[in-house]
Amino acid sequence: MSAAPQSAPTPMMAQYIEIKAANPDCLLFYRMGDFYELFFDDAEEASRALGITLTKRGKHLGEDIPMCGVPIHAADDYLQKLIALGHRIAVCEQLEDPAEARKRGSKSVVRRDVVRLVTPGTITEEALLQPGRGNHLAALTRLGGKGRNAEFALAWTDLSTGTFLLSATTAERMEADLAAIEPSEVIVADPLYRDEAFAPLFRRLGRRARPEPQPLFDAATAASRIAAFFEVGALDGFGDFSRAELSAAAALIAYLGKTQLAARPALRRPERRLAGETMEIDPATRASLELQRSVHGGRKGSLLSVIDRTRSGVGGRLLASRLSSPLTDPRAIGERQASVSHFVEAAGLREEIRRRLGAVPDIERALSRLALDRGGPRDLLAIRAGLEGAAEIAGILGADLPAELAGCTDALRALPGELTETLRMMLGEEAPLLKRDGGFVREGAIRELDEARTLREDARRFVAELQGRLVEETGIRALKIKHNNVLGFFVEMNETHGKALMAGEGSHQFIHRQTLASAMRFTTRELAELQERIVNSGEDALRIELRVFDELSAAAVRQAEALQAASSALGAIDVAASLAELAVSQDWSRPRVDDSLAFRIDGGRHPVVEAALAEAQGHSFVANDCDLSPPGRQADAGAIWLVTGPNMGGKSTFLRQNALIAILAQIGAYVPARSAHIGVVDRLFSRVGASDELAEGRSTFMVEMVETAAILNQSGERALVVLDEIGRGTATYDGLSIAFAAVEHLHEVNRCRSLFATHFHEMTALSDRLERLSNVTMRVKEWRGDVVFLHEVGPGAADRSYGIQVAKLAGLPKSVVMRAKAVLAELERHDQRDSRGMFLDDLPLFSAAVRRAEEAETRAEPDPVAELLRGIDPDRLTPREALDALYALKSAL
Ligand code: ADP
Repeated sequence: MSAAPQSAPTPMMAQYIEIKAANPDCLLFYRMGDFYELFFDDAEEASRALGITLTKRGKHLGEDIPMCGVPIHAADDYLQKLIALGHRIAVCEQLEDPAEARKRGSKSVVRRDVVRLVTPGTITEEALLQPGRGNHLAALTRLGGKGRNAEFALAWTDLSTGTFLLSATTAERMEADLAAIEPSEVIVADPLYRDEAFAPLFRRLGRRARPEPQPLFDAATAASRIAAFFEVGALDGFGDFSRAELSAAAALIAYLGKTQLAARPALRRPERRLAGETMEIDPATRASLELQRSVHGGRKGSLLSVIDRTRSGVGGRLLASRLSSPLTDPRAIGERQASVSHFVEAAGLREEIRRRLGAVPDIERALSRLALDRGGPRDLLAIRAGLEGAAEIAGILGADLPAELAGCTDALRALPGELTETLRMMLGEEAPLLKRDGGFVREGAIRELDEARTLREDARRFVAELQGRLVEETGIRALKIKHNNVLGFFVEMNETHGKALMAGEGSHQFIHRQTLASAMRFTTRELAELQERIVNSGEDALRIELRVFDELSAAAVRQAEALQAASSALGAIDVAASLAELAVSQDWSRPRVDDSLAFRIDGGRHPVVEAALAEAQGHSFVANDCDLSPPGRQADAGAIWLVTGPNMGGKSTFLRQNALIAILAQIGAYVPARSAHIGVVDRLFSRVGASDELAEGRSTFMVEMVETAAILNQSGERALVVLDEIGRGTATYDGLSIAFAAVEHLHEVNRCRSLFATHFHEMTALSDRLERLSNVTMRVKEWRGDVVFLHEVGPGAADRSYGIQVAKLAGLPKSVVMRAKAVLAELERHDQRDSRGMFLDDLPLFSAAVRRAEEAETRAEPDPVAELLRGIDPDRLTPREALDALYALKSAL
């Protein structure tokens, strides 16, 4: 370095720079006493992101060093904000007492090192997580190079709960699979990350995707690395995995090693998810159906927010994960339905179980923190309460249960009773957040600890007695014994007394410690001795408590498998009971799900729109039927419904509700319908409402066409396709032709069940040629030139689009509405003559036309209410006549 001597870094700065250099892509939280300090660019970045003051500390290479700091006790809040912004944080702690460093010499700095990297996918703190939401870290791998033989796999884990899953994937499916997992962080083998072919995917994942060196993914050593982590000789007992799956799993474990450093997370054994086990739902469909979040990005207004009645964090997470991956096996679906039915039928049991579930703490998250050495005494209490609650719930559930629930009670009953006993014996009723605060081990649990505590208490009592004695001996009534962290215990009196005391004969007892403006402080031999006893016995007590904590924590972690199984069981019970609660309170029914191609919904409703209408206390939701089952005996494929109707008529609601009902049915829930029969859907496509991919630089039309292409290329006969207004973004004839051809393709080639909404009325003619296609329309009533939406789906086609009436409702200026009517009338007249000539020239100019139309309207349509009112003379009406007049007015509206 060419730095001048005066700018050589201080030893502390040198240490900082070295540690920072080892963690270049993280913000470094550098522990200094009660603060984490950030320096240089990190400080500038963090002060901007967190809105905290930027200061300076010393100089480096002649320049001021920017610095900002966050207090330890508030660090979680700041971490949360930084993580949410996509930062990674390296937490650097002091590894020794500053006193030890001083012993080594005056220039010596406290030893420090990074103990943990906090990344979005690896957080476990209660404060950083949401109870009902999983937090997933995924690893994506590709074996066999870029060619056709490439093999892809995903591994994902929720570090806060220990879930660990693997699945094969493909280049095409990858994005849909990732969307189902919703990872906070995805690590990707570096060569794959840099492959141009996947650039759009990684761009969409943004900061969540993260390249990691290929060796982490090394397939040759993967199996042995996984076995070593689980401390088993071989993986045979874990099941069959592909090489790619092992590579992804091993990478995940290696990455956890990198971020968690010394700690070993309590991961469950990896479980394999088979492609085809779950309904495939691509990201655009998820977004369009607002499954987990609404188009505005929040949870409110999503399907999940409306159906979630779970009482526990683990139940909430399980429901969200089931909703993101509906099943395709009718038997497995039936098993879940049976659990829900059990709770639908037994109302008392349901209530009791739900009440208890609400009181059971989050066992798996507490356990994860303990395993990572990030837990506190409250996590032990949580596990104890969880164990007790689990045993009670198993008891209440009783026998004679459907298979899934029976499995759950088995898992609850298999919990180790000794662990509960030990925790009961050792822990008190309450505990501090941090173990170093002590006081959580129960009295009577350990003799040594009781003795140490008694000593400390005695000494404290002696201190109190000592004050009385000293007052008596000195005759100074204002003498007090006080305590602070610097001096420990001391005797305090005012200066006059203090000086008199020093001068007098009592002085030999008192040792002067401090003189303040208004007071003098002393100690005495006896007080110093008591002080030492208190400190020593306090330290003894804490040492014992910390030992007990470690033992209990280790005992809990040894039982990780049983605890995690029980936690999952509680989650499954919660989901079943909450779906039952939902079904009963909302009057939902149990759908029949099988492997036919049926899709028959009677009286279906859209749960989110219905809830919103109920909340607004407006009109009530109109239930609608939908039947896409193969029509007639001969048909061997599902039907297509072509839906027409005015804007605002309820088309999108109808389209979406049927897709949602399919999803709900296949997660094993009841559905918002009088009855439903659904042959399993293996793949769902829904394009309803605007897409938000415009940021990618494609036009609306381009996005729509790309998506339509995917649907037409990929839908098999088990798919359900729900399409809204294809071809809207281009010239009428182009759009119409594309929509036409797309429907023909769906009917002839894909042969899948479909709902197709369109505003091209010309398309309804297709029903003459395509045997499995029917026309339905959203019914409306016309009244005095206005439309009334009935929200009813009926057979047939809309003959008009009522666009102008809807525009009028939306508050378009009256003049524009009238002008539009005139233009429309003219267009229709010319259309009959089949030419698109220059007829618009025939129309009078805007203002003149509007004036004329206005006059015509007033002449032609006198306002009936005004007419009636004009005829009324209030002074001459009898009460009866007045009432009649009111009725007449009302009906003229
Ligand atoms: P479209 O897609 O035809 O323009 P939407 O499906 O967006 O119409 O519906 C417009 C509004 O009509 C909805 O926001 C909702 O308030 C109401 N609506 C739709 N369907 C129903 C229904 N079945 N029952 C009651 N109100 C409905």
